[in-house]
Amino acid sequence: ASEPNKEDLEKITELVDGFKASKALFTASRLHVFDLLQSRPGLDATQVAQEIEASVKGTERLLEACVSLGLLKSKERTSQKTVYENTRLAAWFLWSDAPFSLHEYIQHCNNTLWPLFSHLESAVREGTNQHEKAFGKKSKDIFQDAYFSSKEVKLRFMNAMHSIAKVTGKAVATAFDLSSYKTACDLGGCTGAMAYEFTTAHPGLSVTVFDLPAVVEMSEHFHPLHTDNRVSFVAGDFFKDELPKADLYILARILHDWPDEKVHVLLSKIADACKPGCAVLIAETMLDGQTPYSAPQSVNMHAQTEGMKRRESQYADMLSKHGFGCMRVVHTLNFLDVFIANKM
Ligand code: SAM
Repeated sequence: ASEPNKEDLEKITELVDGFKASKALFTASRLHVFDLLQSRPGLDATQVAQEIEASVKGTERLLEACVSLGLLKSKERTSQKTVYENTRLAAWFLWSDAPFSLHEYIQHCNNTLWPLFSHLESAVREGTNQHEKAFGKKSKDIFQDAYFSSKEVKLRFMNAMHSIAKVTGKAVATAFDLSSYKTACDLGGCTGAMAYEFTTAHPGLSVTVFDLPAVVEMSEHFHPLHTDNRVSFVAGDFFKDELPKADLYILARILHDWPDEKVHVLLSKIADACKPGCAVLIAETMLDGQTPYSAPQSVNMHAQTEGMKRRESQYADMLSKHGFGCMRVVHTLNFLDVFIANKM
């Protein structure tokens, strides 16, 4: 054919223009447009502009963009006046208190990942993460030196992890029959959002969330009213400190942060703590899993951390070196693939 077909043209345009869609979504989210229209559907652009303290002209463009992206619906009330409301997508995911709100994760994308991605070329050329170029600070350990360097950034990071864990947690927790395990340790379990999904799904299971002291000291902030006494928190460094004893070790979106050498350090500590029959459960998007964005996500880990996304076979190889076998994987329809292996 001498001309590209319509699908190819659409596909390439979508890819080239993807950043415009993301940034329009981030901006509307940051300006609380979806919160406003959730509580007061049917406002026009002038009213929205006034509430979000922005220009009418800019607000009109942003609202139109959100309509074309399927995030808002517009109705012409009169020939002069168009009013807006959230679509189902926005109602599920975009306003702050939505049941599956990604609002905080979107803030993390806007404030942290966007600046890192603007240095992707350097990340590729130099083979290192780009915290120093993006934020002016050298960071040996991205958590302790970058994300937890100020309370504001730390809370934003924790909120982002919390919102993703709330969306993905149930699918991870229910991927396997875990009824033979009584105690679990969620390594790098952050706010405990994932741990609560595990205790909810498995009435006989208690979960210890193990994370850095800087994170654990904020855990109350996320569960002030929670009375689930099957979830507890222990502060420590999983590379240096003794791990809490458990029948099941959970690593949800942990190993993608680290290079192979460090993954081996962690797996060897888990293997030492495990008796035969104990298990390790890994939740990650795998490169050969079913989510199309795991390879772009691997680029993201490269710009952000020392880590990467891996294939199922890479996890299997690493785990077998530490005496694990009987490996099984479930591809959830959610963001994460779940892998389990038993200590032999
Ligand atoms: N597991 C959570 C989830 O799936 O939402 C959070 C994943 S987050 C990408 C990585 C977590 O590892 C953070 O909560 C971070 O504080 C924790 N972490 C990083 N380095 C650690 C260390 N040396 N010891 C313990 N936890 C650590």
